[in-house]
Amino acid sequence: MKKYIFKSIYFLSLICFSQENNPQFYASSIKAQDLKNLLYVYASDYFEGRGTGQIGQKRAVEFLRHFYKKENIKAAKDTEDYFQYFNATITQQRGTRTRLKLDKNGEISTENVVAIIEGSEKPEEYIILSAHLDAVGLKKGEIHNGADDDGSGTVALLEIAEAFQKAKINGYGPKRSIVFIHFSAEENGLKGSEYYSLNPIYELSKTRVNLNIDMIGRIDPKRKDNNPNYIYLIGSNRLSSDLHEISEKINMKTENLLLDYKYNDPKDPNRFYERSDHYNFAKNNIPVIFYFSGTHEDYHKPTDTAEKILYDLLEKRTRLIFYTAWEIANRDESVSLDK
Ligand SMILES: [Zn+2]
Repeated sequence: MKKYIFKSIYFLSLICFSQENNPQFYASSIKAQDLKNLLYVYASDYFEGRGTGQIGQKRAVEFLRHFYKKENIKAAKDTEDYFQYFNATITQQRGTRTRLKLDKNGEISTENVVAIIEGSEKPEEYIILSAHLDAVGLKKGEIHNGADDDGSGTVALLEIAEAFQKAKINGYGPKRSIVFIHFSAEENGLKGSEYYSLNPIYELSKTRVNLNIDMIGRIDPKRKDNNPNYIYLIGSNRLSSDLHEISEKINMKTENLLLDYKYNDPKDPNRFYERSDHYNFAKNNIPVIFYFSGTHEDYHKPTDTAEKILYDLLEKRTRLIFYTAWEIANRDESVSLDK
């Protein structure tokens, strides 16, 4: 009985003194198990590899919309209930038996999914967090589930949105607005982000930063060190040394991952800086960070499946992105561009 009373007091004090204005409190809601539960659904065969314009991609956008509704996170303005429709030109793969119905211009209708948590003090400044919702789809009758590419980024974004919404409910919502964008047609040449950058819902001149997540659930087999606690950061210092410093400082204070800038080298032949959706923001002089854990033997193959994801690692990387977004959204100064 004594033990029981002691325990109760202990837990009560935890509840009373947990700092609800502290990002740690919300970061702890981002859990490996939650990421896993979401990804086992999102990268399941039901979504048929989420090929742009295919039935599985339509199921994916419904799944995302349902998530934001359930969390009470608002649809972005000027969308049709979270959907920003656009037409993407799709080059059909040879030898693919496809169910795509292209219009006479060889285009197909698809949609970005856009949600927002409005800022409490500077609602007209925007931080965009993004991941692409599509994957390679059905090819030669085989489903390319895209668990890492980019199911990992997608579920990370959902968990981050949920954490920010929890903070908002407790009265600690972000001071700047956070826009969550799931881009479609990334695999067809960054089409969803290109469309957004040409038809922005929120002014690009007031968009301060884009943090883009594309493949953060695995370990790059090319790495020789035995430290799994790394992430590749690309772009952080290209337009804003301010952003780079914030990102470094926040990482040191929180997850303390090894931040590897190998692929940020402008001379790197992979040119990853130009290969995911953040590039359409960088082109418009908006500072970006691209979070990435590297390619692997299952990249763009039917074997990129949910059971190969390292969920504890995915949790740490997701939390780091959350903390970085929290800092950028809440600090007094906006992230500044280099002169
Ligand atoms: Zn990708």
